[in-house]
Amino acid sequence: MDLQNILSKSALKAPFSGIRKVLEWESKIPADKWLRLNIGQPDFPCPSHITQAVCEAVNEGYTNYTSVYGLPELRQAIAKSTKAEKKGSYDPDTQVFITNGAQAAIYACLRTLLDPGDEVIVPDPCYPPYLTTIELCGGRPVPISTFKGESRFDISPSDLRQVLKGHSKVKALLLINPSNPTGSMYHETTLNAISDLILEKNNIIIISDEIYSRIVFEEVKTITQISKEIRDRTIIVGSFSKTYSMTGFRLGYLLGSAEILSTIKTIHHTMNICAPTMCQKAGVAALTGPQNEVEMMVQEYKKRRDYLVQNLRDIPGIECNKPQGAFYVFPKVIDTGMDGLTFSKKLKYERGVVTVPGEAFSDPSWQSPSRDYIRISYAASQATLEKSLKEINSFVQK
Ligand code: PLP
Repeated sequence: MDLQNILSKSALKAPFSGIRKVLEWESKIPADKWLRLNIGQPDFPCPSHITQAVCEAVNEGYTNYTSVYGLPELRQAIAKSTKAEKKGSYDPDTQVFITNGAQAAIYACLRTLLDPGDEVIVPDPCYPPYLTTIELCGGRPVPISTFKGESRFDISPSDLRQVLKGHSKVKALLLINPSNPTGSMYHETTLNAISDLILEKNNIIIISDEIYSRIVFEEVKTITQISKEIRDRTIIVGSFSKTYSMTGFRLGYLLGSAEILSTIKTIHHTMNICAPTMCQKAGVAALTGPQNEVEMMVQEYKKRRDYLVQNLRDIPGIECNKPQGAFYVFPKVIDTGMDGLTFSKKLKYERGVVTVPGEAFSDPSWQSPSRDYIRISYAASQATLEKSLKEINSFVQK
């Protein structure tokens, strides 16, 4: 059987996420001793009122399909919490759409927008499944560098103007705020400039991935907080995964124009019919229940960020950004004499510390500076961070 001729070209060409590939690399340290700083998965337990809610939902018979849009009570709870966060008013009947995690939201959204040859402007570096999805839809990612900001990874408005001028097939601009992999948030002046530039165009929408927007360490805005006009041109991608440590529940959502969502409905229905019903009930419990555990997690992430940034900066050859949110840092390691891939591979092989090379977050054709970086996730205990830093320090200085 000639599988190369049976499998679709786009599926064969679509890159598998480099975040997962690192687990396949060799290490002389046994896997149960690895210090895992590779995965963006909260190390805190899911709050017990949420796990109880999912069990109760099953026992109460929430085991059937819901509407394709999701349970009305969950959509209402999302609309209410979005308004409380000052991100705008969304009609729970037509402008809130529940998905199987942000990942399915992203796929349904891009599959709805793109025809073959269409372009999406994506930040470089960027969450890798966006690149895979664009490829699977026959589209083309157009990078916009975030390596030029002085104190954070940010978009330069003049770069965006240039990119918009040079590309006539752009359908969407993707913002990831806070960013995976950098943890950076766009500056408010950047968001204002982006808003002005996009409003000058008739046929471009913004997809704003805000799945980390409750994990922030200072007051920073997202694009829909800039104005009603830009809100009407934006689709927000949201998720319960990180905020409530619910990654396995597969629960996310989209907020935006009723017309766009009613087209997304067809794609999402074809893939999923609906998000798991009992998990949607758990989502209601998450949003309407106590928020103190979320606040505790954010405080803890902030402490870890400060610890990690300060100690990484003390290691010769490492330059480290101080992120505003999420639970990642994106240090530059090239001045240690190793590029990100070599650093990451050797660190895992010799010391069992698992990180992700920066190049996993860029398309290889971009020749991106991301190859000089690595991503470290601090969704890991303080003890793991302390041991890892000791190992990284002696690895670099050996
Ligand atoms: N978007 C970003 C920026 C992410 O980092 C992730 C997961 O790491 C996702 C989307 C997918 O999240 P979910 O678990 O809700 O599918």
